Amino acid sequence: MPRTIAAFVAALALSTAAAAQDFPNRTVTLIAPFPAGGPTDTVARLVGQSMSKALRQTVIIENIGGAGGTIGSKRAAAAKPDGYTVLLMHIGIATSVSLYRNLGYNPVTDLEPVGIVTTVPMVFIGRKDFPPASMKELIAYVKANKDKVTYANSGVGSASHLCGMLFMSAIGTDLTTVPYKGTGPAMTDLIGGQVDFLCDQTTNATPQIKGGKVKAYAVTTARRVKALGDLPTVQESGIAGYEVGVWNGLWVPKGTPKAAVDKLTAALRAALKDPAVISKLGDLGSEPASDQEASPEALGALLKSEVARWSPIIRKAGVYAD
Ligand code: ASP
Repeated sequence: MPRTIAAFVAALALSTAAAAQDFPNRTVTLIAPFPAGGPTDTVARLVGQSMSKALRQTVIIENIGGAGGTIGSKRAAAAKPDGYTVLLMHIGIATSVSLYRNLGYNPVTDLEPVGIVTTVPMVFIGRKDFPPASMKELIAYVKANKDKVTYANSGVGSASHLCGMLFMSAIGTDLTTVPYKGTGPAMTDLIGGQVDFLCDQTTNATPQIKGGKVKAYAVTTARRVKALGDLPTVQESGIAGYEVGVWNGLWVPKGTPKAAVDKLTAALRAALKDPAVISKLGDLGSEPASDQEASPEALGALLKSEVARWSPIIRKAGVYAD
C-alpha cells in the first residue's frame, strides 16, 4: 500500500477508535419502528429515558412506523454504524425474514445485537360492546360470524399479526384483518368501536383493560399474567398449545465499534435495574431481561433461533408479503 494511503487508513482507524472511546458525546437516536403511543414506543420511552442517565446523553425516540416494523428496522440497519442510531424491535424482526419476499435487509447480518430488553405477554381484547363475554365465546362467535368480524393488526410482521395469524390457523377460520401502522392507532379505533377485536401486547392493553375501555378475553402466554389478575390463558380457553410472547431487543447497525456497543449494553443493563422501570414494566405485565439476557451474545443467539423456529410455521401457514 502506498505510504500516503497507509497513513490515511491508520489515521482513520485511530480516529474511529478515539470516537468510540468517548462515545456518546451527543444525542443518541432510538428508533421505535411503530407509531407513538403503542407498545414498542412505550418500552422505548421507558428504557430510553433511563439509558440516557447511564449514557449521560439525551436519548430521543424516533417513531418510524409502517409495514409491521420493517421500514424502521431497515432504516436502522442502513444508518451510520457509530452507535448513535439504535433500534428497538421485537419478535417481528425474526418472523419478517420468512414473511417478506423482499425484506430488503438481513437482520442477522446487517445489525449488531446489543441485548434483550423485555418479554411481554399478549392479550386478546375486544371493543366494549363486542358480544362475546369470554375467550370460549369469542372463538365460537368469530367462527359463526367470520364474514362480518374484523381483526385489527399492525401489518405483516407485527406481533399482533403473528398472534392473529396463529389464532386463525388454530381455529381454522380466516377473518378480515384491518392493518394499522401500530397498535397505538388500532387501540384508538377499537375503543371507538370501528374494529371488533385485537391481540395486543399487555404494555399497551393493560391500562385500557383496567380503565374499562375494552373487553379482555385471554392472555397468550402459557401461564396467567399477574398484572391481569384472573384472566385465563388462551390454552385454558380451549386452544391446546397456543402460546405467543413478545421479546424486545436493541440493535445497532453492523460495523458499530465494540466500545460503543459495550457502552450501550451497560446502559441497557442499568436501565433494566432502575426501580422505576421495573415497577412500570411490572404494572404493564412485562418483565425486564436479566444481565445475562441483556447481552449481545444472548440476543444474537435468540434472533438466530427465532428465525429458524418461525420459518417452518410461517411456510405452513402460507402467509407472505412483498
Ligand atoms: N409493536 C407494535 C406497536 O408498537 C404492535 C405490534 O407489533 O403488533 O404498535
